[in-house]
Amino acid sequence: MAARILDGKALAETVRAEVRVSVDAFKAKYGRAPGLEVILVGDDPASQVYTRNKEKASNEVGMRGRLHVLPAATPEDEVLALVQRLNADEATDGILVQLPLPKGLREQRILDAVSPAKDVDGFHPINAGLLASGRPGLVPCTPRGCMRLLALAGATLKGARAVVVGRSNIVGKPVAQLLLAEHATVTIAHSRTEDLAAVCREADILVAAVGKADLIRGDFVKPGAIVIDVGMNRIDAGNGKTKLVGDVTFAEAAEVASAITPVPGGVGPMTIAYLLENTVTAATARMEKR
Ligand code: NDP
Repeated sequence: MAARILDGKALAETVRAEVRVSVDAFKAKYGRAPGLEVILVGDDPASQVYTRNKEKASNEVGMRGRLHVLPAATPEDEVLALVQRLNADEATDGILVQLPLPKGLREQRILDAVSPAKDVDGFHPINAGLLASGRPGLVPCTPRGCMRLLALAGATLKGARAVVVGRSNIVGKPVAQLLLAEHATVTIAHSRTEDLAAVCREADILVAAVGKADLIRGDFVKPGAIVIDVGMNRIDAGNGKTKLVGDVTFAEAAEVASAITPVPGGVGPMTIAYLLENTVTAATARMEKR
């Protein structure tokens, strides 16, 4: 039987509509819009598109989104000075530094400089630590999107066997923490995992976050499992064109799974929706603390 396709595009629209309601409530209460500041250093074409989309999406839900574009040769201290200025700015609720940064800039140093209360990407070690300790904090956007897609699928997480393939700080580890918090029994697989297929076949919930097309084949999927494909890989589509695919061989897995996210149109749109959600969450938390 063919799997249910989990429509991330439509679900992201729902999340954005929810955010719009929260933004309106925030404005009514505090007399200003939540502010998201996006910092782009350099002229990487993909990053230019991503950051413009983030600025546009935040303004569309009624926030004050602003993009700061700095030349690739900007000294580290100048980037840090901008971050510090935004940390101190009362009307700034969220700060996002677009990755990757140009060579010569120390990514860790710059990300660590963002105030944890304004860290809407959830990459700051304080927020990572809060998540690992099961305490409230800002949680990375893509993992939050994965959890919402699982809710859409009607997944029972308590007691489920979950396998997360990938252990990055931005996707694999936080998604594993969120599944653990929901009482799933979680295995994290990675490049040194032996017999990945057998590990994956144990999963009621399989999350692939690697960046390798066709890594997860149909026979890796337990019948009836829910598959969340985070991977984004651009491959040759023949005729001189390219196309975007995930880590999972979709046609094969869809024959076996009960539900699966497509690429594109699955996890991708959810990430930006949860960036907006994190911004209004950060804004509300800051204002309530005062
Ligand atoms: P990283 O490169 O940081 O991490 C990849 C992980 O995959 C690592 O933990 C690595 O293991 C593991 N891995 C590599 N090869 C294998 C293998 N053969 N078998 C099992 N595990 C393997 O990537 P990210 O976490 O940043 O991103 C993962 C994917 O998700 C990418 O395609 C990225 O483009 C996509 N992505 C999509 C987003 C979206 O919005 N849809 C957002 C963010 C990312 P090890 O640790 O041992 O090296």
